[in-house]
Amino acid sequence: MIPRRLALPGDFPLTGVSLASPRIWGWTLDSVEIMTTCRVLRCQTPGSDVVTGGHHLNQVHESYVCAEHKQQIDSGENWDVQDTHVLMGRDLPPTITGWSLTDSRGTQGFVLSLKTAETEAKPFEAFVTPEMAKLLHTLTETRRGE
Ligand SMILES: [Zn+2]
Repeated sequence: MIPRRLALPGDFPLTGVSLASPRIWGWTLDSVEIMTTCRVLRCQTPGSDVVTGGHHLNQVHESYVCAEHKQQIDSGENWDVQDTHVLMGRDLPPTITGWSLTDSRGTQGFVLSLKTAETEAKPFEAFVTPEMAKLLHTLTETRRGE
């Protein structure tokens, strides 16, 4: 079947949704899909609720999610927004569940050891200089979200 095109004033082509050009007045099939499918990465369930985040950053984001993911977010699971996707579970960095500091007896500084919620992962260890410790303190103070 040959697509039937109509010419509108301004030479803007109008085609059917299933034809060669899916664009109709600035709406694309991709944008319609973004609006109707849960935005959690890899979830293909139709969205039914909106979650709003970023208030603490003054960068409010609204995302369409399915009922299951809405329930998980409402019950306190971590989530984040990157580009047009909501990230949850394995798509997020692991949460720190414990930490320790061991002073260096050589170079001034300490070893920071971080345990995460990933039970199979070894604790992450890093040597922290006094300058880096001050920088980390400043960064965490300004990003606490209070
Ligand atoms: Zn979902």
